[in-house]
Amino acid sequence: MAKCPYCKNQITFDNVRRDVKGAGFLKQEIIYSCPICEAILGFSRGNYS
Ligand SMILES: [Zn+2]
Repeated sequence: MAKCPYCKNQITFDNVRRDVKGAGFLKQEIIYSCPICEAILGFSRGNYS
């Protein structure tokens, strides 16, 4: 799927770390980070409208 640009390890939806910040559906933000080096890979908004 993807490679971590920092440690070059393979990242999949199964091993990627997801940290959910914020409460409620509208303010929720998901932070994806590498499970090995914990570098932040991206953000995504929990916009389920
Ligand atoms: Zn990494």
